[in-house]
Amino acid sequence: MLYHSTRSKQSFVTSKQAILEGIAPDGGLFVSDELFNTQLDFASCISDTYQELALKVLSLLLDDFSHDELCACVEAAYGSNFDTPQITPVTKLGNSWLLELFHGPTCAFKDVALQILPQFMNVAKQTLAPHTDIEIVCATSGDTGKAALAGFSTIPHMGVCVFYPQGKVSDIQRLQMVTQTGEYVCVAAVKGNFDDAQREVKNIFANRALEAQLKDTHVVLSSANSINVGRLVPQIVYYAYAYLTLVKDGVISFGAPVDFCVPTGNFGDVLAGWYAKQLGLPVGKLIVASNSNKVLCDLIKTGTYDKNRAFVKTISPSMDILVSSNFERLLYYLSDGDTSFVTECMNELSTSGSYALPLELHERLKADFSCGYATDDDTQKDIAATFETTGKVLDPHTAVAHFVMQQHPSQNVQVCLATASPYKFAADVLHALDPTATPQNGFDAICELQKLSHTTAPQQLTSLKDALVLHTRVCEVHDMAQAVLDCAKTLGTGE
Ligand SMILES: *Cc1c(COP(=O)(O)O)cnc(C)c1O
Repeated sequence: MLYHSTRSKQSFVTSKQAILEGIAPDGGLFVSDELFNTQLDFASCISDTYQELALKVLSLLLDDFSHDELCACVEAAYGSNFDTPQITPVTKLGNSWLLELFHGPTCAFKDVALQILPQFMNVAKQTLAPHTDIEIVCATSGDTGKAALAGFSTIPHMGVCVFYPQGKVSDIQRLQMVTQTGEYVCVAAVKGNFDDAQREVKNIFANRALEAQLKDTHVVLSSANSINVGRLVPQIVYYAYAYLTLVKDGVISFGAPVDFCVPTGNFGDVLAGWYAKQLGLPVGKLIVASNSNKVLCDLIKTGTYDKNRAFVKTISPSMDILVSSNFERLLYYLSDGDTSFVTECMNELSTSGSYALPLELHERLKADFSCGYATDDDTQKDIAATFETTGKVLDPHTAVAHFVMQQHPSQNVQVCLATASPYKFAADVLHALDPTATPQNGFDAICELQKLSHTTAPQQLTSLKDALVLHTRVCEVHDMAQAVLDCAKTLGTGE
């Protein structure tokens, strides 16, 4: 299975190369034409553990990894670092089901991919670049940063440098990052917003002078963001695991289509569901749930992608995004692999901020995807109503999807993806349940939420209260490159 860019078919790489490089040299994303010729016999996987199923899915799509290499990656990623042996359990929620993706070390769904991506990179590095050290650089609006820190900080010869916008992440999210242990870890608050940090990270990746300086210390930079194929592929597993759990529990018989409703930002999570469908999983509709930044929802409804609009700050911040990078992969597949069409769309997007799909392509999109959106008000009401009727507390991202799912009644069994623990956004969730509450800080909100909901906060969040703050660096946007260099210095010398 070889990978190439969504924007040209001139050069092909193995999955190990694609994972190390992250993004194709022409700015496209790595895809494989073999996806349509690849099938997994899911019916024979019904009694598989999460790890057994993961191994089967990964071996299909990352086929230059040896069986032993993948076994080791799966074992390291999906063990006691999750708080349940099922890794992504399925629980009942009213008439539908919740796929809980927040049982990992940082309590957000990004753990499922970011626990295993560092393992893939480590193996790929040993094969392709054994004498270099890798420094992961990432800008975060909150969840990705901590998940990357947790995944990469224990891997030898890898460092991780995370930039978050000062004053613009939740109390708990900030503490999760600044208390991160590990030798080659750098966490810095940036004086600016997420877009400023993100733009400068892109500049850092394109900075040839910096690249040369880093080479002297045998360090290369790499990225852990969601366009990496090594993040996409592991996310296919939980769609299959959820489906097979419903079969095993007698809710459906094998072959019955199941709809999945997915809180969506960068289109990585829901795209993995579409990949699962291509591999033969009986998926009905994939429902794209947006918050007020509903670019994708409008695209599915109208056939036009238009990012020319105001950015709205919401209580589901991990979905506050106007350019959903992973959609480029779907464009490639829906256009039957038309790389010039994809290039044209992406050029239009960067010059005019919008592009329109031809009618036939729009029809194909609507055949697989439905959509809806929830405002903050809808989200808060859903959190309150769900708690009242089921006793379950949803995080704001999950509540967006739950609200949208209820507006899409279906003959099919429906599964709502739960992407974060409510305790990660304790203040906003508490406010939705009790508008009169006035917690002093994140921990206060956690305590009150525990009392009100009779649930227990994850230990890795409550223990932050006594954790040592290890990272106090604050930098201007133009000093971010220096922080990357400083991190590289410790990394390059540590044998
Ligand atoms: C990142 C994130 C999302 C959005 O996922 P995409 O793959 O970017 O669409 C949804 N919910 C939470 C809690 C997240 O952290």
